[in-house]
Amino acid sequence: MPEGDTVWLATRRLHDALAGHVLVHTDFRVPRLATADLAGQTVTEVVSRGKHLMTRTDAGLTLHTHFRMDGSWHLYRPGTRWSGGPDWQVRVVLATQEWQAVGYRLPVVELLASDDEQSVVGHLGPDLLGSDWDLDEAVRRLRTDCSRELGAALLDQRNLAGIGNLYKTETLFLSGLTPWTTVGDVADLPAVVRRAHRLMTANRDHWQQTTTGSTRKGEEHWVFERAGRPCRRCGTTVVEAMQGEDDHPEQARICYWCPRCQSGPAPEPMRRTGTAPSGYRRYPA
Ligand SMILES: [Zn+2]
Repeated sequence: MPEGDTVWLATRRLHDALAGHVLVHTDFRVPRLATADLAGQTVTEVVSRGKHLMTRTDAGLTLHTHFRMDGSWHLYRPGTRWSGGPDWQVRVVLATQEWQAVGYRLPVVELLASDDEQSVVGHLGPDLLGSDWDLDEAVRRLRTDCSRELGAALLDQRNLAGIGNLYKTETLFLSGLTPWTTVGDVADLPAVVRRAHRLMTANRDHWQQTTTGSTRKGEEHWVFERAGRPCRRCGTTVVEAMQGEDDHPEQARICYWCPRCQSGPAPEPMRRTGTAPSGYRRYPA
C-alpha cells in the first residue's frame, strides 16, 4: 500500500515529466469524467499532499488522484508498451509530446477547480513530506484526543498526513511503544512524530522502503510483516494483531510488534495458521 513517500516520489517524477508541457491528449476512463478533455492545457505543476496527488493546469483545473491500496502512475514514451496492468485497470491517461502518464487502479480520479483543492485536502493534518511540515501542529492535533490509541491516531490523516501502516509500525517499534498505548500515556510524543518524519524523509527519494538502513531483502524492516520471526534487536518472536476492528472494521489495521522491545497495553496476539510462510493468513494492509 503506497505511503506518503511513494506518493512524493511519484509526484516528483510526474512533475519532472509533465510540468511546463502542453497536454496533446487526455483520456479519462471513469464514467463521471468520460467526456472530460484537457488537451491544449499546459500542466503547471504536480504536487502531493499526504497521499493525495494534484496535477494542476493553466486553465485553473486540478486533477486529484489518490492511490489508496494499489493505485499507481506510470510514465511511458509514446509508442512503448504499457506495463502497469491490464488495460481495463487504466483510469486516466495524460499525454504530452514526450510522455504518456498512465494512472492505474486509481480509486479516486476527479477534476476540480484549483481554487477548490481545500475541499479535498483541507482536512489533512501537516504533511510529513511537505515543505510546510509542522511538527508542533501535528503534536497538537494528536493531543486533541489523549484517550486514543497511538497506532490509530498516527494513521489518522487529520492528525498528520502521509503516514501509513509501514511507517506507523516501525516508528512504534523504534519508540518502544505498543500501538495500543494511549496518546496521553506517551512520555515524549514529539519524539515519536519526529521519528516518523525522519523515516519517511530518508525514504522519499527512492522506491525501496527501508527503516533499518539495510536494503537487503528481508532486512529492510524491524517488525513490519515479520510476525513469527525473531525480533531483529532482541530475538523475541514478533507477534501480530488487528487494531480498530471493533470501532471501524473498515479502518482496522494489522499491527506487528515485539512484546519485549515495546511496552504498553496489547491484546492477545493472533495465532498463525500453518507453519510455512505460504500458510500465513493474509490481512488487509
Ligand atoms: Zn525485541
